Amino acid sequence: MNLLQQMAEVVVASPNKVAYQVGAEVLTYGELWEQSNAVADRIVVKKLPKHCPIVVYGHMSPHQIIAFIGVVKAGHPYIPIDISIPSDRIIHIIKAANSPLVLTSEPFNLAIESEAVEIADLILTGEKTKDYKERWISEEEVFYIIYTSGSTGNPKGVQISHSNLMSFVHWLKVNCILSEGVYLNQAPYSFDLSVMDLYPSLTSGSKLHAITKSQIENASLLFKELEDSKIKIWTSTPSFVKICLMNPQWDAVQMPYLTTFLFCGEVLPHQVATALSERFPQAKIYNLYGPTETTVAVSAVEITKDILLRYKQLPIARVTSSVVKIADENSDRLSNGEKGEITVWGPTVSKKGYLFDAQQSMKVFKNVLGERMYKTGDLAYEKDGFIFYAGRSDFQIKLHGYRMEIEEIEKQIENLDEVMGCIVIPIKKGDEIISLTACVVLKESIVETSFLQTRKLKRLLESRMPSYMIPKKILYMEVFPLTMNGKVDRKRMAVEMNL
Ligand code: AMP
Repeated sequence: MNLLQQMAEVVVASPNKVAYQVGAEVLTYGELWEQSNAVADRIVVKKLPKHCPIVVYGHMSPHQIIAFIGVVKAGHPYIPIDISIPSDRIIHIIKAANSPLVLTSEPFNLAIESEAVEIADLILTGEKTKDYKERWISEEEVFYIIYTSGSTGNPKGVQISHSNLMSFVHWLKVNCILSEGVYLNQAPYSFDLSVMDLYPSLTSGSKLHAITKSQIENASLLFKELEDSKIKIWTSTPSFVKICLMNPQWDAVQMPYLTTFLFCGEVLPHQVATALSERFPQAKIYNLYGPTETTVAVSAVEITKDILLRYKQLPIARVTSSVVKIADENSDRLSNGEKGEITVWGPTVSKKGYLFDAQQSMKVFKNVLGERMYKTGDLAYEKDGFIFYAGRSDFQIKLHGYRMEIEEIEKQIENLDEVMGCIVIPIKKGDEIISLTACVVLKESIVETSFLQTRKLKRLLESRMPSYMIPKKILYMEVFPLTMNGKVDRKRMAVEMNL
């Protein structure tokens, strides 16, 4: 059964069940179905070019979800764009995707050539509408397109088909043992981490509880919302949960229904997983790994107490995985310990690659003996039957002729007992890297002066890494700034710290 058919079954069985909640607003499965039919209806009468993408702009309103489903029912892929995306980038995406229609659930007043329509106006029909089964996105067609940052400076539109998404949802439900309950959505819909809760939740008759940007920015609102939500399945970036952990009262007593943490998108630090396992002893913690190009995540390792005891760095996959492999130029699997690039294989790898960018697609997507493969640019190595992430190949730098991985230095600093998190920023003069600066969040605030604190940390580092790798400067921060996707924002940090 495809995802729309699975949702249709839930609608028939429990039309009055709540599908989505944000603040005090709720949407039942019956309303979601009817109102997305209305959206599909209004799109169909526009007679747009076949399969052209439709942009859906907004934040966490239920209208967003109604529009996503309405668009795919009308036979088009949708492009989710969150309010946090800068306007120049939005204009660029609409143009680059050749999207003739933008559906909006938040005020939208950018000068674009495409038609912009409020979703609210499309669903104020009152009449019974058809569900256009014959037009629904088929399994081979593109379901959504998510724009990720490109190394060229322009975002790339990753095309994910209905069958890519079906494979992902099925795999996630089986591997992380997901069942019905309340799912948390923290990530904006323009970030594919949101897909990790949206479709598993809607296809299992669960309630998706979304939290908004303004709730996240106001600690008392955030914790009140979390406490009232009865969340069972938690999906977020590690950076977001790190913010929650700063509240010492946030634990299993406040969130008694929580059984599962799903993390993806960036390194899950050991300290974060340890703190969670102490505060939520009954909950399972999964470290998931995957790029947008391979549909959200392709591997998951349950971080057990045993793993926390044995490894300082947490594994992202098992070597038995048939989809995550470590390769170099000459072989598709390296032996124990050697570092190589992660390639991802199998049914969740985007079949169509980047929208209107065959050149970039050819560089990273390959067809090998009938199998689709994506070259991630992530480095990893195998140990004890696990795969460990070893940074981006593009985070490799040269300083005074020495080759080093920025993330290796960060890891070494994070391994120090007093350090909660560390980001290392290369300082450049022209094109040349002349020194390194470490931005550090301490577990406890500095007791001495920052000069003495730095001297102490540098001394500890001397025994752990060569002196050329020890950052020249260490700056102390309360928290790291986050990108709109909830990952650590290295660029903003450099600007804020005048680096
Ligand atoms: P995105 O396409 O925005 O989801 O970013 C994907 C990238 O995030 C991957 O290529 C990795 O570099 C990084 N990433 C995702 N999951 C993890 C993880 N569990 N540990 C470390 N890095 C990760």
